[in-house]
Amino acid sequence: MISRIDHIGIAVNSIEAVRKLYEDVLGIKISETEIVEEQKVKVAFLPIGDSEIELLESTDPDGPIARFIASRGEGIQHIALRVSDIDTKLEELKARGVRLIDEVPRKGAGGARIAFLHPKATYGTLIELCERGGGK
Ligand code: ZN
Repeated sequence: MISRIDHIGIAVNSIEAVRKLYEDVLGIKISETEIVEEQKVKVAFLPIGDSEIELLESTDPDGPIARFIASRGEGIQHIALRVSDIDTKLEELKARGVRLIDEVPRKGAGGARIAFLHPKATYGTLIELCERGGGK
């Protein structure tokens, strides 16, 4: 049911500022940028094989990414696992008593349906479940 690492989310102060590192130095093309209003972030994807890096820049000083950077600095913010059926997976986790941030999926970048597990339930790592269209 969990098929791969969908993406790794990295919090940055400015996507523009890190573009040179990822594109020119590392040679990974930034494929698209979009605003996810609900999470108060601007997001850019960098495809690498079957997975992606997701750069997250806050659009609001009180948004979750701004708060993350304020307390922990720039860096890896979450790991997203690809699931084929997020509703069933969430039901399964709830039944097992796993603490969740999102009990129902919300809309993520790229039209994905996502839900976060609570880091207290995952030994400190923020884990996102991510279902893509077509259930790949
Ligand atoms: Zn993500």
